[in-house]
Amino acid sequence: MKLNPLEPCPCDSGQPYKTCCQPLHKGAAPPTPERLMRSRYCAYKLGLTDYIINTTHPDGPHYQANRAQWKRDIEDFCHTTNFVHLAVLSAVGDSVLFRATLFAGTRDVSFTENSLFRQHNGRWKYHSGTQTP
Ligand SMILES: [Zn+2]
Repeated sequence: MKLNPLEPCPCDSGQPYKTCCQPLHKGAAPPTPERLMRSRYCAYKLGLTDYIINTTHPDGPHYQANRAQWKRDIEDFCHTTNFVHLAVLSAVGDSVLFRATLFAGTRDVSFTENSLFRQHNGRWKYHSGTQTP
């Protein structure tokens, strides 16, 4: 997905992509777990699979040793999912509670997740999460 950097960020922050998630996608360290969470949602929406992989904590349950297969799985998910809306409900310490509104075709696959973030080599990474429909 091509995006004009001056357009509103796909993470629904209301900020332009250029000053919101783009710097993180280009390699800047996420300043907070919330910014990382937003940038990961945004990366799913834009199909930035490497970013998803690189911001997943190696000690977390979502980390996969087979990077090629993992990349294909993320690509499949990105291509078959319509990312409608993101709402961050709360961000306290190392956890972020959010609601993602998603559709797979006409099927509503939205969920609320409490995500947990941990530092790895001085950078925030997504560790794990608990989802409810
Ligand atoms: Zn953003």
